[in-house]
Amino acid sequence: MGLETALDARHWAPMPFPFWSAVFFVVGGVVGSFLNVVIHRLPRGESIVSPPSHCPHCQYAIPWYLNVPLVTWILLQGKCRHCGARISPRYLLVEFLTAAVFLGCWLAFGRLAPAVAAVYCVFLAGLIAASFIDCEHFIIPDELTLGGLGAGVLLSLGLPALQGAADSAQALTRSLVGAGVGAGLIYGILRLGKLLFGRHRVELAPDAKIVFTETALVLPDKEISYDELFYRKSDVVTVQARTVEMIDRCYRDVRLRLAPDLLEIGDDQFQPEDVPHLEAVAAEILLPREAMGLGDVKFMAAIGAFLGWKATVFSLFASSVIGAVIAGVPYLLRRGHGSRQIPYGPYIALAAAVWIFWGDQVMAWVLGSR
Ligand SMILES: [Zn+2]
Repeated sequence: MGLETALDARHWAPMPFPFWSAVFFVVGGVVGSFLNVVIHRLPRGESIVSPPSHCPHCQYAIPWYLNVPLVTWILLQGKCRHCGARISPRYLLVEFLTAAVFLGCWLAFGRLAPAVAAVYCVFLAGLIAASFIDCEHFIIPDELTLGGLGAGVLLSLGLPALQGAADSAQALTRSLVGAGVGAGLIYGILRLGKLLFGRHRVELAPDAKIVFTETALVLPDKEISYDELFYRKSDVVTVQARTVEMIDRCYRDVRLRLAPDLLEIGDDQFQPEDVPHLEAVAAEILLPREAMGLGDVKFMAAIGAFLGWKATVFSLFASSVIGAVIAGVPYLLRRGHGSRQIPYGPYIALAAAVWIFWGDQVMAWVLGSR
C-alpha cells in the first residue's frame, strides 16, 4: 500500500475543506515551533529531541501549556516568562511563515491532491530550516540536504503523483534524475566559476606585503574585510609566503591558510582571534570567491529528488535573479561599500518555493514572452 492510498482524498472528504485549512495552519505553527528548535540546535550539534524547549538565556524549561506556537510569543511580547530576556522575533517569524506555507499548500493543492499537499509541506518546512540556518551559520547541515535527498526519493516511491508519474518505477527514475541534474548543475557552475573568474588567484608584486588585521585583509592595492571574504565555513585564503611575521615569532617559506575558524602556518595551528596582527610577504594570494559551495550542490540535489529536474533548472535561474535583486539593491544604495555577502541557499529555497506554487505560470509567461 502506497502513501497515495493512505492519504486518499476520500479520507479527507467527511470533514469540510475549511476545517482542513485550519488544521494545516495549526499543524504548520506546531511544525514551525519545532523548526525553531532545529534551526537553533542542528548547526550546534545538539540533540533536537531533548532536552525540551528551554529559554536560551536562563535555561528555564518552557512548560507545554506555555509553548503554544505564535500565541506564546505574542502574549509574552517576546520575553522569557522566567528571566525577562528578549526572545528573538525569528521564533515568531518561523512559526508564522511555516503556518502560512502549510495553509498555502493546502489551499493550492488540497482539493486535487491532499497527499501531495502534505508532502510539499514537509519539503517546504525543510527549506525554511535550511534557509534560516544558512543565513546564520553559512552552512546547510547534511541532515537537511542528504536527509532531504533520501526523503525525496522515498516519498517519490511511495507517492508517484509527487513526480506526476504513473507508477513507482517512473517516479523513482524522475526523482533520481532530478537529484542528479540538480547536483550536476551546481557542481558544474562551481567548477566553471573557478575557471572563469581569474580573480580567484590574485597576482601581487614579487615581494608584496600582505597584512591580516583583526577585521580585514590588507593587500597593497586594496583592503577586503573578512565579512566580504568569508561567507562559508569552508572558505579559505591561501598564501605561499616567503616570510610570515607574528608578534612573537617568524616563519620562512611556509604555506599560510586562513579559514573563518582556523589559521594554519606550516604545521602550526592557531585560533584566528588569538592572532590580531600578522604580516606576510608573498607574490600571490588565493581568495575564496564563490557564492555557492558544496552544501548548495547537496541542497539542489534534494530539491531535484522532490520536484524533478525541471525544478532545479528553474531554481538555478530564478535564484540568480532573486539574488541579484536582493543583493543588488543594498549594493547600489551603499555604492558598493561594506556590502555584506549573504549565503546563496535561501535564494535557491525561495526559487524552489516559487516553482511549487507558480512554476507553471512563470514558465508559460517566460516561454510566451519571446
Ligand atoms: Zn529565561
